[in-house]
Amino acid sequence: MTTLLLTNARLAGASGPAVGAAAGLVDVLLDGGRIAAVTPTGAAGAGHAVVTGDVVDLDGRTVVPGLWDAHTHLTQWALVRHRLDVSWATSAAHAADLVRDRLRYAAAPAGGQPLVGYGFRWATWPDQPTAELLDAVAGEVPVVLLSGDLHSAWASTAGLRFLGIAHHPSGLLREEEWMPASPRIVTVEDDVADALVADAARAAAARGVVGVVDLEVDDNLTTWRRRVARGWDGLRVRAGVWEQHLDAVLDAGLRDGDPLLDPAAGPAATSDLVRQGPLKVISDGSLNTLTAYCFDPYGGAGHDGHDGHHGQVGHAAHGVLNVETDHLVPLMARAHAAGLRCAIHAIGDRANALALDAFAASGARGSVEHAQLLRREDVARFADLGVTASVQPEHAMDDRDVAEELWPGRTARAFPLAELRAAGVRLSLGSDAPVAPLDPWVAVAAAVTRSRDGREPWHPEQRIDVAAALAASTGGRPLHLAVGGPADLAVLDVDPLAPDADLRTMPVSGTLVAGRWTHRAL
Ligand SMILES: [Zn+2]
Repeated sequence: MTTLLLTNARLAGASGPAVGAAAGLVDVLLDGGRIAAVTPTGAAGAGHAVVTGDVVDLDGRTVVPGLWDAHTHLTQWALVRHRLDVSWATSAAHAADLVRDRLRYAAAPAGGQPLVGYGFRWATWPDQPTAELLDAVAGEVPVVLLSGDLHSAWASTAGLRFLGIAHHPSGLLREEEWMPASPRIVTVEDDVADALVADAARAAAARGVVGVVDLEVDDNLTTWRRRVARGWDGLRVRAGVWEQHLDAVLDAGLRDGDPLLDPAAGPAATSDLVRQGPLKVISDGSLNTLTAYCFDPYGGAGHDGHDGHHGQVGHAAHGVLNVETDHLVPLMARAHAAGLRCAIHAIGDRANALALDAFAASGARGSVEHAQLLRREDVARFADLGVTASVQPEHAMDDRDVAEELWPGRTARAFPLAELRAAGVRLSLGSDAPVAPLDPWVAVAAAVTRSRDGREPWHPEQRIDVAAALAASTGGRPLHLAVGGPADLAVLDVDPLAPDADLRTMPVSGTLVAGRWTHRAL
C-alpha cells in the first residue's frame, strides 16, 4: 500500500500563539491504513524519505480523528434526506418554487429516482396544480409530491412516467388514480435503497463522518452483507441486530466487531468496513407521544397526572414499558454470552433505571440509547456498570419546550450531559437520523451550547466542552492523533477548539477512512 503524507497540518487546539515552533504545523504520514508518524513540518529526518504516494498540503488546516454517529437509521435517513417539505406552500406556484429552489441548491436524486415532496394541502390554494407547472421548474427530473393526507399526489410529466402513467390531463392524481401508483413511491427496492444509502454515506463523509452505528429496523445482517458484496466503501458501519434477527447472527457465529462478509461472495468481499454491532432493544416509548416510561406522571395541561388513560388510548400517565424485565434480562444475557453488546433504548427515568438493572443482572456490556431523563442516583450507576450513555444532544433542542411541559420540575435532570461526564460516564453522541440530521457537528454544537437559533441556552449547567463533545464523537479517541491508530481523519477549515468556531456549520474539506479519501474538497 502506498503512503499518503498530509503536510502543513494543524492539530486541534494548536492554533494559539503559545504553541511550539513553526506555528505548530505537523506532517501526518499515513501508511497501511494507519497513522505512521506525526512530526513537525520541516523537521529534519521527518517521514519524507518513505513517502511513496501522494503529498497533500493542508495549508494549516486542522486534522482531527474522524467522527462517528453512534445512533442512525441509515436507510430511513437516506430516503428522508431527499424528500422535500412542501407543507407550507400557500399555492401551487409556491410549491413549484420550492421544487425549483431544491433542485437549484441540491443534486437531484440518484438513479432516475423522483424528487418526492410531502405535505401539500391544495384544497385552499388559489391556483390549480398542473404537471406543466412542475415541468417548468424540474424538466426531466421526475417530481412526485404527496398530499398531507396521502390521498392524492401531484406529479410532473417525468414523475407521471415514473409512476407508470403515460397520459394524465392535469398531473393531480386523486384517490383511486393515486392508490395503485403509490407503491412506486412508498416501497423501495433494494437496489434503490442501496444507491440512496451510498449517496447518504458520501454526504456524511462530507461532514467528517468515518463511521456510524446503523440501528435500522431491518434484517441488517442480510442488508449489509449484500452491500459489502456490492463493494461498499462509504463509511465504517456497525450494524445492529434486532431480537427477531438475533438467531441468524448467533448462528453465523458473529461477535461484536466481526466483519460482515457475504459468504456467497467469496474472496471478492474483502472489505472489513462493515462489522457486527449491538443487539438493539426498545424498552420504552418517547417523550412526544407520552410513552417514555417515568417514575412521575406526565405533567402539563390536559395531562391529569393520574394512572389511567389519556386522550391517546393506551398511554398510561407514567408512559409505557415495552419489554418486561423477565424478558429483557435473559435476552441480554444470551447476547452477552455470544459476544454481542447491547444497545437498550430508554428515554424515561424509570425505563433507564430498569435498563441499568438489566445490565447489572445480565452482566451485559453496551449502551443505553437516549438516556433522556435520569434520576441522580442512576447517573452514578452508568459509571459503576460501565454502561455508555448514547445521547442525541440535538433532541434536547427539538424537545426543550415539550420537555418543560411534560416533565415539569424535572428538566434539570433531562439530557444531563455534564452530570454524566462529571460522574465519569462514557458518552457517545449521535443523531438518531432521520430524527435529527446525520451531521455530528449539529450534535456537538447542541452539546456544547444547549442552544439553537439564537435562543437562550437550555439548562446551560449541562453543557459540555468542545473537547469532550468531540471525544464523545470519535469513539473516545483523544483529539491528538495517535501513531499506530487507524487513519480515520477529518480535515477542518477551522480549529474546533478556537473560541469563535461555529461548530454547527463546521467546514470540512477532507475525510479519510483507513487512509483513503472518502471526501476531498481541498
Ligand atoms: Zn433510533
